[in-house]
Amino acid sequence: MVGDSVPISGCTGVAWPAVPKRQDALLFAVLRQLDETQWWPAEALLAHQLRQLERLLAHAATTVPFYGERLKVLQGIKTGALTYEAFRRIPVLRRAEIQEAGEALVSRKIPADHGAPFEIKTSGSTGRPVAVKGTAVTGLMLRASNMRYHLWFKRDFTKKTACIRMLRGRQIEAANAGKPVPWADGYPSGPMYLRHVNTPVAEQLDWLVAQNPDYLLTFPSNLTALIRLSLQRGIKLANLKEVATLGEALDPAVRESCAKNWGVPVVDAYSSQEFGLIAVQCPEHPEAHYHVMAETMLLEVLNDRDAPCAPGETGRMVLTALHNFATPLIRYEIGDLAEAGTSCPCGRGLPMVARVLGRTRNMLVLPSGEQFCPRFIFEDFIYALPIRQIQVIQESLEELAVRLVADRKLTPEEQERVKASLLAVARHPFRLRFDYLPEIPRAASGKFEEFRSEVAA
Ligand SMILES: [Zn+2]
Repeated sequence: MVGDSVPISGCTGVAWPAVPKRQDALLFAVLRQLDETQWWPAEALLAHQLRQLERLLAHAATTVPFYGERLKVLQGIKTGALTYEAFRRIPVLRRAEIQEAGEALVSRKIPADHGAPFEIKTSGSTGRPVAVKGTAVTGLMLRASNMRYHLWFKRDFTKKTACIRMLRGRQIEAANAGKPVPWADGYPSGPMYLRHVNTPVAEQLDWLVAQNPDYLLTFPSNLTALIRLSLQRGIKLANLKEVATLGEALDPAVRESCAKNWGVPVVDAYSSQEFGLIAVQCPEHPEAHYHVMAETMLLEVLNDRDAPCAPGETGRMVLTALHNFATPLIRYEIGDLAEAGTSCPCGRGLPMVARVLGRTRNMLVLPSGEQFCPRFIFEDFIYALPIRQIQVIQESLEELAVRLVADRKLTPEEQERVKASLLAVARHPFRLRFDYLPEIPRAASGKFEEFRSEVAA
């Protein structure tokens, strides 16, 4: 935090020192701990993760039907004696299993003080839609991790942020109304203006010039397109201090291009809808050093034999959310690959990954020459269809192929609905073809492409 920022006070007549409201007080209480625990040795962090895991596992074994049988592999382990080796006996949870388990993955007895559960819908990085539940506690942990992330990069909370990503629900309403939302928790926050990433790039750039933000938050592929267009037009964003990227694997070339052409650094983070913030680049060592938010989750990087990868090896990321007592996600294979890291010279004990191979995004090209990053599968009704995986390929300026892995063929009505939803995003009456496949593989790079254009931009 910069300068003399004082938290928001929730007490009549008291401005300083602030007396925060309950929600903010909880946030500061957790944040205070995260500020310390980031410096703990790795062994101490793991020991505390295991103690927390014992509580989560006991809860899951007794209140979540899906885990009753699955967690029997841990029977006989006394409280306080769980080791990482024992924990690894639990089978890895695949996305398809979550899709099949449905309600059996939801706790029958969520502790009352975790608050009312809410639904989190996600297509993840593999185009497989799943819905899980979160609680006030998972929300609190996420807010605290996010705040620590802001503090690492000394962001000035009073400044203006522009956010161009996929938006849902209220965010779309705020974007359409041109209304800002706050972006920092617990402190007087500057405005964050929102734009959907489906917006044509040229329109985004005009909007950015008008907004003149201090910070920009967007996907790496969208940033690349914005930089390219700004160079063609000779545009500079005068106030910009930093670009934060998320949602895709960041190519080091994008970082270099942003520094060279816009004169500002890129800060990259890896997150998902189900887990929130997962890993953030080290504030002191930006390249190839991502710190895992180990206070809220246990991350494993596993090889083909399900054994932990050695530093430098690339493997599947398997995550356990430490505080989700609504839909416990235990050893969940999230669908992205990572290169295992070692320790970081900064001295933080938070575990590291060197890099994440997440999804990649592509630009859709319209016959008019307009381009944008489409986000095709975020419509709510998709979650009710028997679709296991979905990918859209632009084959020409007039044709899109929709590749589906599904339990059965969609009915003509369902197909029409998917078609209408895709065409609304595409902003052009493309011809659409549905291809049914047993599995949609990753690209050779290891990244999953939820949308790929075969048309040269
Ligand atoms: Zn570090």
